[in-house]
Amino acid sequence: MNYFDLKNGVLHAEDVALPDIAAAVGTPVYIYSRATLERHAQVFRAGLSALDNPHLAFAVKSNPNLAVLKVLARQGYGADVVSGGEMDRALAAGMAPEHIVFSGVGKTAEEIVRALNAGIGQFNIESEEEGRELATLANALNYQANAVLRINPDVDAGTHGKISTGKADNKFGVGIHRAPEIYGRLNALPGLNMRGVAVHIGSQLTSLEPLETAFTKVGILIAELRDHGHKITHVDLGGGLGVRYRDGDNPPEPAEYGAMVARVTKDWGVRLMFEPGRVIAGNAGVLLTRVIRVKPGSGNAPFAIVDAAMNDLARPALYDAWHDFDAVEPNGRKMTTNIVGPVCETGDTFAMGREIDVVEANDLGVFRTAGAYGATMASTYNSRGLVPEVLVDGDKFAVVAERISPETILAAEHVPDWLK
Ligand SMILES: *Cc1c(COP(=O)(O)O)cnc(C)c1O
Repeated sequence: MNYFDLKNGVLHAEDVALPDIAAAVGTPVYIYSRATLERHAQVFRAGLSALDNPHLAFAVKSNPNLAVLKVLARQGYGADVVSGGEMDRALAAGMAPEHIVFSGVGKTAEEIVRALNAGIGQFNIESEEEGRELATLANALNYQANAVLRINPDVDAGTHGKISTGKADNKFGVGIHRAPEIYGRLNALPGLNMRGVAVHIGSQLTSLEPLETAFTKVGILIAELRDHGHKITHVDLGGGLGVRYRDGDNPPEPAEYGAMVARVTKDWGVRLMFEPGRVIAGNAGVLLTRVIRVKPGSGNAPFAIVDAAMNDLARPALYDAWHDFDAVEPNGRKMTTNIVGPVCETGDTFAMGREIDVVEANDLGVFRTAGAYGATMASTYNSRGLVPEVLVDGDKFAVVAERISPETILAAEHVPDWLK
């Protein structure tokens, strides 16, 4: 559920008419709804109400905007970060260091030291090599780093190949069959407080089955680790819950997910941790764009060329992802159209042969479900600026990330003296 609805024939974010934002900020622009973010945060938490004090860490990579993180911090969420930059954002948003989890296969020594000094709550170790390095660095600084070992359960998440992370040939975690020996060796190192395991098999999961398969394997592993005398107190079950991008998508509700988790984990006796991203932010944002012009295509469908492009919203080009497109002031008529951006790549295509509201040059439209993996993946390709972000709260809105103009980007480039 979200708060982007038609009121008097005009699409609003909560109580703000989107043309007002376009007039004030220009297009393209990402627009987030605070009420939607809060609702999703609360629904996810409520879905886990059968669990004892779960730790909720918002996956910052899905939407790292500082104001968005602040909204979630105020909902009691911590953060799952995958770089020093994301850690800085979570801290800047006021999240407690101990509520931050540091994931990622390529943590550098510099990032590890910064995270140790910041006092973050947990390192999710992705390899024995990383664990050894963390132990050495922590020991040298007299820290005991809380850590869990991320395992790769070799489960097919049934999602797009580029966002699957739990198959044996993916780069993430350590193979589940090797986990006990690796865990044993890491547990013996000074500087590390090994306290459990983590798993995250992919994103935009639309079925609970692969998650249940993975969690069941984790349960067996926990028993084995305990048999070896290890104290397992924390298990991080990752994120991955899918959202509805289009009619027919039927992702599990957080309550169904929570019920499955409660059933599978009931005898584990650990504190469970979660890293939801998309399910919180996805439907809390839209990308507002203006139609530049409409030109005929070779078949029946014309091309609607919009001022947003693959550099602003990469998911269609990256993952063949679908984003619903709606006119901001629909007139009730429909047309079949190809929706494309101005970038000089055929991949800069948002939709082919899509039935959408009739739009003409200068009309506004939105790509929906753009709150996760949207602005954060933006680039400046084709020397376009970086898309701004706006947060709506009731009848007010604020620019929460400024548009970075092509001039500003150009100003950061230099021609060396010897080329002048
Ligand atoms: C990307 C990621 C998440 C969030 O995934 P969603 O599908 O957005 O919920 C959580 N944990 C880890 C380790 C990730 O890499």
